[in-house]
Amino acid sequence: MYTSNPLTTLTISLEAIASNYRLIQQKGAGREVSAVVKANAYGLGMAEVAPALYKAGCRRFFVVSLDEALELRKILSDVFIGVFYGVNKAEEEYFVKYNLTPAISTHEQFKRWQEYAVKIGKKLPAILHFDTGMNRLGLNYKDAALYKDCDNLEIELVMSHLACADIENNEKNAEQLARFREIKDYFPNKKMSFANSSGVFISEDYHFDILRPGAALYGINPVLWQKNPMQNVVTLISEVLQIRKIDTAQTVGYGASCKLAAGSVIATIPAGYADGYLSYLGNKGYCFINGRKCNIAGRVSMDLITIDITEFAEEIAVGSKVELIGDNVTVDDVAKQAGTIGYEILTSLGSRYKRIYL
Ligand SMILES: *Cc1c(COP(=O)(O)O)cnc(C)c1O
Repeated sequence: MYTSNPLTTLTISLEAIASNYRLIQQKGAGREVSAVVKANAYGLGMAEVAPALYKAGCRRFFVVSLDEALELRKILSDVFIGVFYGVNKAEEEYFVKYNLTPAISTHEQFKRWQEYAVKIGKKLPAILHFDTGMNRLGLNYKDAALYKDCDNLEIELVMSHLACADIENNEKNAEQLARFREIKDYFPNKKMSFANSSGVFISEDYHFDILRPGAALYGINPVLWQKNPMQNVVTLISEVLQIRKIDTAQTVGYGASCKLAAGSVIATIPAGYADGYLSYLGNKGYCFINGRKCNIAGRVSMDLITIDITEFAEEIAVGSKVELIGDNVTVDDVAKQAGTIGYEILTSLGSRYKRIYL
C-alpha cells in the first residue's frame, strides 16, 4: 500500500479482534454473534477484518450502505449481509443479485421491497428495524402489528438499537427493552437482535437471539466505567523526527498557544490531524516515549505534533519510538483527551501511514 508517512506505523491485531469476538460469544452463552463492519470496519480495513472475523466463526455481518455491502460481498461470498440504510431508490436489483438483506426502517422501504418482490415473483429477505426510543431510524414500535404479516417478504430478523447502552444504569435501556419485548410478541417465531457492544454487557435480558457488536470487537471499552474487558487492537507508533532545546522562553506551533520556559526540550513527531490525530488533542493529549508519559505542547498540525520532553530529554533521541495509541494510551484514553468517543478516533485513523496486520 502507498504510504506517505513511513515513520508512523499503524498495527492492527486481527488476533485481538478474533479474541474479542470469542469473548462476546462467551458472554452470549451460545447465542449467535454477528459483526458490524460498517465504515470500513470502523476504519481498521474491511478487507482484512471481515475475513478474520469469518475465521473466528462469524457468518452474519452488518454494514450501512449498498456500497459497503458490495465491497463486503466481494470479500465474503457465503455470509449474511444486513444493510442498515435499507433498500433505497433504484437499489433493488443489486440487493437481489448480491443476496443482501435490507434493514427495512421506513414504510417507503417496506413498500418498495414488497413491490419488487411481487414484480420479480420471488419472496425477498428482509430485516425489520423498529425504533424503540432512539428516534433516529426505524419503523415506529407502535406499528409492529402492521408489519407482522408480510406475504412477499421473508423476515430474517427483527431488530432495534439502544440509545444509552454505554451509560451505566441508564433508565432508557429498560424502557427500550420493554418496547422491544412488545414487538417480539408480534413475531413469536422470528429471530430478534437488540444488543450492540455495550448492550451485550448490560445483562442477559438484552441478548435475545443475535448479538450485534461493532466497537468492542475493535477494542473499544463497552463498559467505560469499568476496566476494559476487551483486548487492545490498535497500536499507532511513530518516531521522533527532530529535537529542539530552547534557551529562552518560547511559544510552540500555530497560534503560539503554548509557551515553554527557557531550557525546555521539544520533540517533533511526524503525525497530525490528517493522520487522524485529532486537532482537539492540541495542548491536551499525551503519548508515551520510551515508556514515559509526555504531553502534547501546542496545537496539532496537519502532519506534525510537538511534545514537551523536557523531563526526559536525557533519554530521548531522534528516532525514539513514540506510542500515540497502544497499551499505555488506549483508543478510549485518546478519545477522552480529545473530548470525543473511541469510535471517532478509530474511524478518523488516516491512510498515510504504514499499516501492519497481525
Ligand atoms: C453501529 C451499529 C451497531 C454496533 O454498535 P457498537 O456500539 O459499535 O457495538 C449495531 N447496530 C446498529 C443499528 C448500528 O448502527
